[in-house]
Amino acid sequence: MNAVYMPVIGLEVHVQLATASKIFCSCSTDSMGAEPNRNVCPVCLGLPGTLPVMNEHALRLGIRAGLALSCAIRDRTIFHRKNYFYPDLPKAYQISQYDLPLAEGGEIVITGDDGAPKRIRITRLHLEEDAGKLVHSAADGRLEGAERSFVDYNRGGVPLAEIVSEPDMSSPREAREYVQTLRRLVRYLGVSDGDMEKGSLRVDANISLKKVDGATGDLLFWGERSEVKNMNSLRAVERALAYEIERQRILMERGGTPERETRHWNDGAGVTTAMRSKEAANDYRYFPDPDLPPMLVTEAMEERERRALPEMPWKKAERFTEQYGLPAADVEVLVESLPLADYFEACVAAGASPLRASNWVRVEVFRVMNERKLPADAFPVAALSLGRLVAMVDEKKLSTTVAREVFDAMAGGKSLDEALKGAGAAQGGIASEALEGIIRAVVAQNPDVLDEIRSGKDGSGKKRKFLTGLVMKETRGQADGKQVQAILDSVLGELL
Ligand code: ADP
Ligand code: MG
Ligand code: ZN
Repeated sequence: MNAVYMPVIGLEVHVQLATASKIFCSCSTDSMGAEPNRNVCPVCLGLPGTLPVMNEHALRLGIRAGLALSCAIRDRTIFHRKNYFYPDLPKAYQISQYDLPLAEGGEIVITGDDGAPKRIRITRLHLEEDAGKLVHSAADGRLEGAERSFVDYNRGGVPLAEIVSEPDMSSPREAREYVQTLRRLVRYLGVSDGDMEKGSLRVDANISLKKVDGATGDLLFWGERSEVKNMNSLRAVERALAYEIERQRILMERGGTPERETRHWNDGAGVTTAMRSKEAANDYRYFPDPDLPPMLVTEAMEERERRALPEMPWKKAERFTEQYGLPAADVEVLVESLPLADYFEACVAAGASPLRASNWVRVEVFRVMNERKLPADAFPVAALSLGRLVAMVDEKKLSTTVAREVFDAMAGGKSLDEALKGAGAAQGGIASEALEGIIRAVVAQNPDVLDEIRSGKDGSGKKRKFLTGLVMKETRGQADGKQVQAILDSVLGELL
């Protein structure tokens, strides 16, 4: 019998909400480069006698994300205590949500492995606080050897939304696309920066294998699932799942059965290793947090967040395809970032043709952004200026070569007019009288070439091309090639 193994994948994604202060106190959430245990107070350290107070901004961002995921928003939602002991958790419980989450029953549409749209159901979105971070270090301070452990509570109490999917994904590629779609969405919404490297978007991947009869399609066996943690990039999510599928398949083929366990992805080694098994599973003893009143979500709050929703990335992709006639690959790149998509549209509004504007944004703008490690919304060239520049290329007033020089000068801080003057390019391109002067000079400087053309050795037109090339060089590429050829022909006609 020919057995087939089919992966079943469901993801739990933790998204750090983009608030200035923590979820239940006024400590800063910005701990980049901060000294450990700087951003802490009695509330987030869990000292006795302190009371948490809900950050309303975190609630609003949670509602906004829930709406964008097409979830139903609960109008009365409460917090629970999830009890477990670990040094990164000062209260020995995490404030989270349990049976009454903020949002439930949504969906995200991705492209399935068969190329057709595929709905991935969202089970729920709930709010919770983040834990602190353990740092393991040798006595001499090296971060290896782990002779000592330190704890940093800067992250403790940072607001998170946990977004749980149904087990609807069937491959590592689909899982990756789901995370990418979700990340783009939270960025569009201003709900999170979605940075996986910084840990503001973390993925726990649940995966099991179904063993199916290849001929009849009958389910023969469904293995227990493992939960994989510690993937710090989209690529890591895909690799870790591919590894885990292989591991479970080989285990099952050898007559073993995958266990319910938590596994750790080691990116360097490219393997997952067991962390915790089912026997060691926690009983969290969830109970309602008596310190926090129920959160009421009014119609007005929901309406306000609904109005704050931007054009959704998938809608924008459709519109870019229809309105601008862009190829799918262009649309994908432009729509990935909202500031970049806006920048592109502003270029087109300034008169650039969509296809050429898209090329410039994807090639030149990206190059400068990467070279200088700039975010798209801090780009030094105004979209209006790039749009006008590209329009001049469209109208053949400027060659691409000169336009690139002008662009680089603008990226260096010059205005469009200054940059055009600097590149020796007047806005109207090059006048034909000036061009004729240049052509006559080039011909005069190359008498040997002229002789060869005269003696009929230029049957293939190579010599004419050579002269055209010299003229283009002389005009720094601003001249229109056809115009140069026409004038050159008439000048040569006089001389031959
Ligand atoms: P837990 O409380 O252990 O985290 P949940 O029921 O909340 O378990 O499920 C967590 C995640 O596991 C969800 O994303 C869900 O889609 C996924 N999941 C559930 N069953 C399976 C399965 N058989 N195979 C793969 N993933 C699964
Ligand atoms: Mg879980
Ligand atoms: Zn605090």
